[in-house]
Amino acid sequence: MKIGVLGGGLAGMSSAYFLKNHDCEVLEEFSRIGGHCKTKKKNGFSYDMGGHIIFSRDKEILNFMLKKLEGNIKSYYRNNQIWFKKRFVKYPFENGLHALDKEDIFECLYYFVNNSYGKPKTNFKEWIYYTFGKGIAEKYLIPYNKKIWKTDPENLGLDWVEGRVPKPPAEDIIKSAIGMNTEGYTHQLNFWYPGRGGIESLVAVLGKDVKKIILNYKIKKIRKTQSGWIASNGKDERCYDSIVSTMPLPELLGCLDNVPKNIIDAINSLRYNGVIVIMIGLNKIKFTDKFAVYVVDEDILYHRLCFYTFLHADHAPPGKHTVTAELTYFPGDKISRMSSEELIRHVISTMEQEGFIDSGDVVETDIVNARYGYVVNTIGYLDTLKTIRQYFDSIGIHLCGRFAEFEYLNTDAVIRHSFDLARKINNNPSMAAE
Ligand SMILES: Cc1cc2nc3c(=O)[nH]c(=O)nc-3n(C[C@H](O)[C@H](O)[C@H](O)COP(=O)(O)OP(=O)(O)OC[C@H]3O[C@@H](n4cnc5c(N)ncnc54)[C@H](O)[C@@H]3O)c2cc1C
Repeated sequence: MKIGVLGGGLAGMSSAYFLKNHDCEVLEEFSRIGGHCKTKKKNGFSYDMGGHIIFSRDKEILNFMLKKLEGNIKSYYRNNQIWFKKRFVKYPFENGLHALDKEDIFECLYYFVNNSYGKPKTNFKEWIYYTFGKGIAEKYLIPYNKKIWKTDPENLGLDWVEGRVPKPPAEDIIKSAIGMNTEGYTHQLNFWYPGRGGIESLVAVLGKDVKKIILNYKIKKIRKTQSGWIASNGKDERCYDSIVSTMPLPELLGCLDNVPKNIIDAINSLRYNGVIVIMIGLNKIKFTDKFAVYVVDEDILYHRLCFYTFLHADHAPPGKHTVTAELTYFPGDKISRMSSEELIRHVISTMEQEGFIDSGDVVETDIVNARYGYVVNTIGYLDTLKTIRQYFDSIGIHLCGRFAEFEYLNTDAVIRHSFDLARKINNNPSMAAE
């Protein structure tokens, strides 16, 4: 079968990899494969499009990723921190309570134990109060989540929370408040990262086995024929028996004619945030023992910093250091209206003000902007998705990937979905991930 894979990010490359028994062709808009899993380089400094680590509860897929990266993979024990009231608090917050001042510890503990909030009915905010109590909710989880989602958690649904946001056992909270060591969110306590080449190595290693990749091919039109599909960039047409779309749903919609109005409205109603990543290259760094630092303060525009020196990989010239700041935005908001220079200035000045760097040590800067960064799981969005997916099923387009399926998928889940799709297309449920 001739299969057209639309988009050359991780979903595109892993789908083509698992479908290698077919005549597969990947069409990618840009001059490099990778999508969100690209690693950008500038004058000897490099960084991922947002801090990426490899971890998974899905043992089969984790083993697959580690095996593919064999010889170029290192393991780490997490040391992430939350920057709260000018001090470091161990991540997740509920496992680092002893670092707070006494009044904050008391409020977190008191409201966790005396929690009057009932079971959540509709939204994420109710879930936060019910699960953590008013103290942890109002000091950390609500302000942090507002910052990343750019909306009040009361507008977010419940379906995505289970399994993603940690639910702490009571003894952990009490131990953490009195200073006994505990670790939360254990499925990513140990994680992996490529020794060379950044997260892009994961896509590159799959791409080695994909025979046909057409770069600089921006798909503009997709149309059904009697025997299959035609994709076009406006100049050149490619014919396929079947297609797998890994492009963001709104982009796919723009390529199709005769889509029913209810589907157009459904896709247009889906919310998502863009993400901007700012890289700061430094001569000196003040600490090397932390990777991700989550920043709660609402006056600081970024929600997360990543200190790449922690990874001991090849992100900077010898003796130098790479740090990134991540900011989410949606079109028209304050961040989206700031220029690159303003954003970089904000990152450097606030990092200096908080004592993370000296601005005199900055030797390089860079910025990337991904329009599709995070799916925002608004209330009821799963029903909308169901309608959309039924439609694409009915016309025979396979959807696979983070913004093609419009789900908060990490690399492991993207590879899992690509693998399961290949099993389905091959009609081979016992096919192994290798
Ligand atoms: C900030 C951030 C941090 C993350 N951190 C982690 C992490 O720590 N661990 C982890 O496991 N996962 C992480 N992820 C998730 C991971 O990056 C994604 O799951 C994965 O990269 C999604 O791959 P994809 O192929 O589905 O989508 P994409 O990477 O978006 O790929 C889609 C591809 O389609 C192409 N395309 C779009 N339109 C067209 C067109 N018209 N014509 C041709 N091509 C087109 C794009 O150029 C792109 O290459 C993170 C994601 C973000 C945004």
